[in-house]
Amino acid sequence: MTASRVLVLNSGSSSVKYQLLDMADRSRLAVGLVERIGEETSRLVHEPLIGGGEKRELSGPIADHGAALRAVAAELAADGLGLDSPELAAVGHRVVHGGTRFTRPTVIDDEVLAEIRSLVPLAPLHNPANITGIEVARSLRGDLPQVAVFDTAFHSTMPESAARYALDAATAEKYAVRRYGFHGTSHAYVSRATAALLGKAPEEVNVIVLHLGNGASASAVRGGVCVDTSMGLTPLEGLVMGTRSGDLDPAVIFHLARVGGLSIDEIDALLNKKSGLLGLCGDNDMREILRRAGEGDASARLAFETYVHRLKKYIGAYSAVLGRVDAVVFTAGVGENAAAVREAAVDGLAELGLALDLEANAVRSPEPRLISTEYARVAVAVVPTDEELEIATQVYALVTA
Ligand code: ADP
Repeated sequence: MTASRVLVLNSGSSSVKYQLLDMADRSRLAVGLVERIGEETSRLVHEPLIGGGEKRELSGPIADHGAALRAVAAELAADGLGLDSPELAAVGHRVVHGGTRFTRPTVIDDEVLAEIRSLVPLAPLHNPANITGIEVARSLRGDLPQVAVFDTAFHSTMPESAARYALDAATAEKYAVRRYGFHGTSHAYVSRATAALLGKAPEEVNVIVLHLGNGASASAVRGGVCVDTSMGLTPLEGLVMGTRSGDLDPAVIFHLARVGGLSIDEIDALLNKKSGLLGLCGDNDMREILRRAGEGDASARLAFETYVHRLKKYIGAYSAVLGRVDAVVFTAGVGENAAAVREAAVDGLAELGLALDLEANAVRSPEPRLISTEYARVAVAVVPTDEELEIATQVYALVTA
């Protein structure tokens, strides 16, 4: 029996999401998450997808990531999918920041872990939790390959002209200040799946990917290679997001500090956690914003329009960057589900070759699909993202190479 299972772990500061996949047929064996780790009200939701097992929910305090992963291991074992199984080939870890050092999936050893740790200053909100997940998984199955897959990796192909800020070169170099980009596994997966939807090889098509989840980013992908993306040094740059501002004049920060007396940490929290849709209208869930806007709520309407305006600017910018665009593709929670956002974002872009089939756009479906009119020069598509499958695919390819 060849080991063909991959456990994918996505460790956040207070949560762990996991999926166990069998790469022999790319099927999912179990999925789940642990949330509110470290609180009294922790919760584990586990769903086996084979063997007729039922979805289970456990509540009660889970002290730390170690306890969380041991609880996950116990649930998997109860379904006959234990981590001690000889069928488990590797554990794949989503790691947010790979800096310039990590441009491909990497088997984790002590040296690699130390390098990931050295990148914490670039991703203080994310890398520490990813590291904890790696340490715990190594303590459970140190004999298995543990592989890091970096959110930044797909964007490492950006030309310097897109990756650099126009800063003093020595200062930028000294502090590693450049544009890295994030959501890379999603942009990689979705751009490839879009080529497949068009019946083409990735090398043949130029695609603008709009990953619109709670965090949101756009990327320009030329022939399968990323040439620009909207997130930068951190995931704060670019589109309007659930709670992040996206692009703003950097002088806003000086102004808030000098005139408003806010500290750097306060401004950091303001821009990352209290801005974006939430800051504009008090809600960060697009469903709620669409409902409120439909009832004539002015601030929800403004939030929607600001979100769409920024999106349109990026579609225009990346059309210019790519020169020829074959497809614009929407993905993630908002992109896959919010027909109103897709319609508004594409509205008025006929000169760029974009025209929606409004009936097709209104259809709800979990399948990749085209929503442009038959005669539009540029295809518009909805392609559900699958970051776990992409991570597992990259991990399995590495460990079986
Ligand atoms: P994350 O970035 O956390 O992975 P997701 O990709 O799951 O996020 O996207 C979550 C967001 O998707 C929600 O906050 C919500 O705004 C949006 N969303 C989900 N379903 C719908 C829907 N039916 N209509 C509009 N927006 C939706």
